[in-house]
Amino acid sequence: MKIQLLPSSFDSQGCATSEQRLTCFLIDDNVTIDAGSIAIALTDAQRRSVRSIIVTHPHMDHIASLPIFVDDLFAELEEPHLRMTAVPVNHIVPTVGLLVSDGKTTVGFSSDTAETDEFWTMLNRAPHLDALLIETSFPNSMHKLAEAAKHLTPAMLAKELGKLNHNGMDILAVHLKPAYRDALISELAGLKIPSLKVMEPGRTYEW
Ligand SMILES: [Zn+2]
Ligand SMILES: [Zn+2]
Repeated sequence: MKIQLLPSSFDSQGCATSEQRLTCFLIDDNVTIDAGSIAIALTDAQRRSVRSIIVTHPHMDHIASLPIFVDDLFAELEEPHLRMTAVPVNHIVPTVGLLVSDGKTTVGFSSDTAETDEFWTMLNRAPHLDALLIETSFPNSMHKLAEAAKHLTPAMLAKELGKLNHNGMDILAVHLKPAYRDALISELAGLKIPSLKVMEPGRTYEW
């Protein structure tokens, strides 16, 4: 399974930058989870091949450019070929976390969430897990705001990972608020979890 976090901002040369302002994961070039940057970051070939879009919740950073994309392609959207299971997570609007499997590779997507249980139960029921993409929005010093906005800090993430029975999978932190990116990167490194990395927008990951 190939997964890319689509870039959401570009420098003056048109190259993708590492800040994540919008959420849109492209899977195997034909399905996306969320659609924040879908209309601005796909290549022409990807634009022609993406025909299924799963929206985890209707916050602007997850759907911002969807209307522009759908306007062109709505009539051609189809059911995903991938198998997806969705469970509610703990965010300020109804939001789902997803388990995505192509029969060989299985990946969990937390979407936006604070502490949650059903998501971890779903992951623990899967026979194996190759990768987990999980949000970490605010640094530890902003714990109160993270609780109010229903997001995770690195310290909360570490606690949540204690609910996971699988091990050995890659863990990719996403949804780092650009204003706190540096603090988040150092706090995530401070957790000393070797398989935990910050997901790079624009890079294709394969499992
Ligand atoms: Zn949200
Ligand atoms: Zn969000």
